[in-house]
Amino acid sequence: MTGASLVEAAELFTTMTGAEPEAVWSAPGRANLIGEHTDYNEGFVLPFAVQNRTYAAIGRRSDGVIRVTSTFDPTPVEVALVELRALFSGAPGDAVTSGAVPEWAAYPLGVAWAAIEAHERAANRAFGVDIAIASDVPVGAGLSSSAALEGAALAAIDWMWQIGLTPLDMAKVGRTAENIAVGAPTGIMDQVSSFMGETDSATFLDCRTLETSTVDLGFAREGLEVLVIDTRVTHAHSTGGYGERRASCDKGARELGVVSLRDVRMDDLDRAAETLDDVTFRRVRHIVTENQRVLDTVDTLRAEGPRAIGGLLVQSHVSMRDDFEISVPELDTAVTAALDAGAIGARMTGGGFGGSAIAIVERDQLAQTKTTIADAFERQGFRAPRQFTVTASHGLLRDR
Ligand code: ADP
Ligand code: MG
Repeated sequence: MTGASLVEAAELFTTMTGAEPEAVWSAPGRANLIGEHTDYNEGFVLPFAVQNRTYAAIGRRSDGVIRVTSTFDPTPVEVALVELRALFSGAPGDAVTSGAVPEWAAYPLGVAWAAIEAHERAANRAFGVDIAIASDVPVGAGLSSSAALEGAALAAIDWMWQIGLTPLDMAKVGRTAENIAVGAPTGIMDQVSSFMGETDSATFLDCRTLETSTVDLGFAREGLEVLVIDTRVTHAHSTGGYGERRASCDKGARELGVVSLRDVRMDDLDRAAETLDDVTFRRVRHIVTENQRVLDTVDTLRAEGPRAIGGLLVQSHVSMRDDFEISVPELDTAVTAALDAGAIGARMTGGGFGGSAIAIVERDQLAQTKTTIADAFERQGFRAPRQFTVTASHGLLRDR
């Protein structure tokens, strides 16, 4: 699979240009082990890069044009480097909504633009390039195909223009591209976890300071699998629901007199219960306890290993279901069925209102767990979920 997308990117490059690429770079998708809705509250998250990757084949042009193509949409999109600023200087997402560029192309063009805007070395050294994209990261399955696309394109550009960006620089450039060029108001977690991933490890990220540390997961070593259960449910109100949750968190922070919910400690919750209305309190409690669970998960992984974190994952799910109220019956069914089948831990992952759950499963119980989950979905009359495993993998890489 992985090899196939690498070859596809190189072949697409040759179809577009008639030449071989000078290099192929790749970036992985990511999954979040724990720490949900904590990112925009300046809290903690613990995601990991997965084995599915997006590849960008790159080569130079002599005419100052950046041209991109993808196996998703092989019609090349080209923009002169000198026109990037005008293209992306309107309101966030304007270039896409106005039809000036297709949405997918705003990611690779957006990272080129954002690198030039943020880094003088990029502005000084930029020259025309051709980029061809191929990927085995499924879109919209909760694995952040968008960060993988940004990372692959940006790592290739960074190498070609010899900018010398650090992975954290690149994560910031990727976020700017996604927020402004594409117009999606997302945090920086996806880029950090994709770009900085290491084998069989997760990345602990402090979303306030952007400090990171690598945490050994030991899943592979201990014979554990991470099963993803994609419910294939997408709720129409997921965008609205996300905005409402953000607004509740802002309200809670304001009423408690803190900059962000990161500053509310577990000991402060009793006082918060007296100050806040019931709904706002429960939103706040999810964020505060979830931050603590991320810290506890890191400590538990380090002290006791991966089999000891199951309870924290389950508590995280319960908190999202009851306090933050972002689960749906399909996600609850996936978690319950996985635990019934003997999973070490399980929780919904991602923004909520649909999407995927993850379960940590003993390798020799994987097949039986998938069957138990599929049967539970069928009994409830739900559409069959897509189930697949992910493996914690390395971040940005030159493949050729
Ligand atoms: P995800 O949760 O997978 O990140 P997003 O909506 O954030 O979902 O990003 C998906 C979008 O990223 C797609 O709609 C497409 O515009 C772009 N994208 C992802 N992978 C590719 C690819 N290989 N080629 C072209 N565009 C891609
Ligand atoms: Mg995304």
